[in-house]
Amino acid sequence: MSRAIVWLRQDLRIADNPALFEACSNHEEIIPIYILDKKNNFLGGAQAWWLHHSLFALKNALSQQLGLTLIFRKGEPLSILSELVDTLSIKAIYWNRGYEPQSIARDKTIKAKFQETGVDVVSFNGNLLNEPWTVNNKSGTFFKVFTPYWKTCLQLLQPTAEKQITHRPRSVAVESDTLQNWDLSPHLDWAAQFPDFWTPGEEGAQQRLNNFIAQHLHGYKSLRDIPAKQATSHLSPHLHFGEISPWSVVRAIEYAKLDPHCDLISADHFLSELGWREFSYYLLYHVPSMPEKNIKSEFDHFPWHNDLSLLKRWQKGMTGYPIVDAGMRELWATGYMHNRVRMIVASFLTKGLFIDWRLGADWFLDTLLDADLANNSASWQWVAGCGADAAPYFRIFNPVLQSQKFDPHGDYIRRWVPELSALNNDNIHAPWESSKTTLVYHKTNYPQPIINHNEARAKALSYYKNLKSIHIT
Ligand code: FAD
Repeated sequence: MSRAIVWLRQDLRIADNPALFEACSNHEEIIPIYILDKKNNFLGGAQAWWLHHSLFALKNALSQQLGLTLIFRKGEPLSILSELVDTLSIKAIYWNRGYEPQSIARDKTIKAKFQETGVDVVSFNGNLLNEPWTVNNKSGTFFKVFTPYWKTCLQLLQPTAEKQITHRPRSVAVESDTLQNWDLSPHLDWAAQFPDFWTPGEEGAQQRLNNFIAQHLHGYKSLRDIPAKQATSHLSPHLHFGEISPWSVVRAIEYAKLDPHCDLISADHFLSELGWREFSYYLLYHVPSMPEKNIKSEFDHFPWHNDLSLLKRWQKGMTGYPIVDAGMRELWATGYMHNRVRMIVASFLTKGLFIDWRLGADWFLDTLLDADLANNSASWQWVAGCGADAAPYFRIFNPVLQSQKFDPHGDYIRRWVPELSALNNDNIHAPWESSKTTLVYHKTNYPQPIINHNEARAKALSYYKNLKSIHIT
């Protein structure tokens, strides 16, 4: 009789889960376990809500589909796994690999420890299309720029058929915590609206994908930038928690492309967005300090102001710039913000308020349901200008022009900043500018702009000029 543990981490699904599949194929008894390891795995406030519901869904699915009992434990993974190995005669431990620096270090230690004692540790790629060390440029080093990276990845992109678990291993009775005792959901009424927008778990992920392909894949390339349309997939939290594998997404898109009416340009553009996710993990693997340190070291001299009262106004969506405030309020209410608006609010924080990108990244990590160390730090560094393949320093988003271009009818602003809803389409983007709006505008509690964008822009450019000279000398 051989028994194995499947240690589930950021792969909270049954379908296309190589560690689970291989364990079920090779052992008669399986113990699937989730270990709450707050020391090694960052868990933001909003994501704690997601994790609770995702684990609940996985426990039910494992029980109903495979007759297995998911075990919950909290603490240090090595000691928890060692205790199970010692008391339950475990022959092997299976997991899908993680790519965050702490996870890599932890997994290496655990693997070495068990190999000494003759327990097999078997790991797989369950979360990326290409693992970071498999993609190199011609000189054998890593790519720093997205386009050639993704071009190389596309040549490697050959989806194979999904493997179905056909063996039915037996479950083992093991002591477990309960999810209720972990008390993960926020105590504030913060998460109250989240269930209106999200269904954590594998089923919710599959529904999102199906719905996206049926309703939004066509036209994705042009509509993905319009926040009021919500025309993107909303798969990011599902992908972060591994409720769907990126390969399942690619297979579904490739299948959709077989339809003669498919909008192929949009389909390929959508795949390239998955490519940005891959590239973020790739960069994090090759530059493990990315969440804390500027990739371009000349930015170490940037004179951040870090005015904490301005940071608070940004967090609360009270900057007086309607598109910025709409984004920050969408984030608070739904645990999500549209990508175009993420770029606008991040540019506003770093190049308008001169607040260090790491303070913005921290707020996102705590409030986003898709908070992801790789995607978040790569994106913040990209906007701030200090990343590997960053937006050039002179690309400073003008929040009013961006608003006029991407929310021309003000629908997104009206939804999240209802006190401005009576303003007309011309005035809603910069209400302080028009004398006609004075009456409505001043009757609300909506603030005056906390900075003058043009002045801030000039200041930012002068700071960057100094940085460049530091770099050259
Ligand atoms: P879709 O347009 O449907 O894209 C499909 C998938 O591709 C996404 O689910 C996501 O996994 C990936 N993707 C899309 N755009 C990007 C991108 N620019 N970078 C990396 N992957 C991408 N994304 C996160 O998943 N977690 C984060 O913590 C995060 N922080 C960000 C911070 C800033 C400042 C910015 C500008 C972007 C950030 N992003 C982050 C990237 C992007 O905004 C989200 O992935 C996207 O908005 C998710 O919505 P969607 O699933 O509908 O995307």
